[in-house]
Amino acid sequence: MEPMSGLFCDRVLLPDGWAANVALRFDGRGTLTAVERDAEPGGLPRASGPVIPGMPNLHSHAFQRAMAGLAERAGPSEDSFWTWREAMYGFVRRLTPEAAEAIAALLYMEMAKQGYTAVAEFHYLHHDRDGRPYADRAEMSRRILAAADTAGIGLTHLPVLYAHSGFGGKPPSDGQKRFINDVDGLLSIVAAMRDSMGDRAGRRVGLALHSLRAVTPEEMRDALAGLESIAPGAPIHIHIAEQTAEVDDCVAWSGKRPVEWLLDNAPVGPRWCLVHATHLTPNETDRLAASGAIAGLCPTTEANLGDGLFPAGPFLAKGGRFGVGSDSHISVSAAEELRVLEYGQRLVQRRRNVLRADEGSSIGGGLYRAAVAGGAQALGQPVAGGGIRVGQPADLVVLDADNPKLLSRDDDSLLDAYVFASDGHAVRDVVAAGRTVVRDGRHVREDAIVAAYRRAITGLRQDT
Ligand SMILES: [Zn+2]
Repeated sequence: MEPMSGLFCDRVLLPDGWAANVALRFDGRGTLTAVERDAEPGGLPRASGPVIPGMPNLHSHAFQRAMAGLAERAGPSEDSFWTWREAMYGFVRRLTPEAAEAIAALLYMEMAKQGYTAVAEFHYLHHDRDGRPYADRAEMSRRILAAADTAGIGLTHLPVLYAHSGFGGKPPSDGQKRFINDVDGLLSIVAAMRDSMGDRAGRRVGLALHSLRAVTPEEMRDALAGLESIAPGAPIHIHIAEQTAEVDDCVAWSGKRPVEWLLDNAPVGPRWCLVHATHLTPNETDRLAASGAIAGLCPTTEANLGDGLFPAGPFLAKGGRFGVGSDSHISVSAAEELRVLEYGQRLVQRRRNVLRADEGSSIGGGLYRAAVAGGAQALGQPVAGGGIRVGQPADLVVLDADNPKLLSRDDDSLLDAYVFASDGHAVRDVVAAGRTVVRDGRHVREDAIVAAYRRAITGLRQDT
């Protein structure tokens, strides 16, 4: 993957709207250094179609890609998030570092092909099969970084503090032993990864708290203080209020609902991403919007797990910010997350075009722009608002204007067709941090990545 010096765009979506004849220039790290309007192509390569900013994927558990589709058979009684989680624990017991890397590389390749140019990896699979740390405590984290290098996409790596199995500091279960760290152990992984990210645009570390179930208030406070000394200003992510059982347990423990408790007891602000935040009261919705934190929505996973529906209409009406993530990877498609987000609202409200800005505005275009900005914030990307701006990683998606689903569409009607009517083959080329990673719909390392995944998945099956 050779660094490019830039790209000439006949048509491109810039932060202030669509523009024609724009020359984008990159430095060797893959950062955008110039956005020149009314330019000539000069010696720059020319984009093969309309260019939109790459979508940041704000929530991923890479290993879960290998079990996508394996939990869709009816069990003996009612299936829920919690029965899915048992299936996931069974799968986790067998994973090796080599397999974890091969799975993540395949996933990140698929992300690139479907319009994601960077990912926030919410990483909690830390230890060996017996629950003991590897000789290098950051072994599994390094595998994630290696996978991002292989696939060529940006990475915000979020080692996860996971210490307990339930509110009030309950001891972890056997199925969770590969996830468990104390605060110092977790911070040593964060520090090791900060020093390993290399000099490439679109790479950084942050920290995740698995959930209020998994960390005590003291551990949360100590972890946040430790993060400040290792990586000041770094992103902080947490799973929250995904399940009504979790809300009930939180109320039993503290007298407060999870989002209410967090807003009252943690410095929640623009550095924070509250993943799911599905079950909110109107008051929590307003307060979350006012905090400036990102709501990390994962609509296809939330639908697959039967979580419930985030109150997107009231949240956006209050100026709330959101981005999207593929989480369990039951779907890996930037367009599909936005489509399912809007369709969930249509189904319950029995109306169309619910998540709208103002009259005449494009739903696909509005959702796409908002998720690019919110995703960039959640990943801790350099420039506020994200997208195609000087100082940002050069993360670009070239749509396939010859795809019959997109023919005769332009500008925001193109985004509407991409989000609502395309079939997964609407992305032609992808540039991540100034390097071409997808060309004509194929990843530049596709054969090698798929072959490594095939070996890994065959090995896992033999292990059972
Ligand atoms: Zn998650």
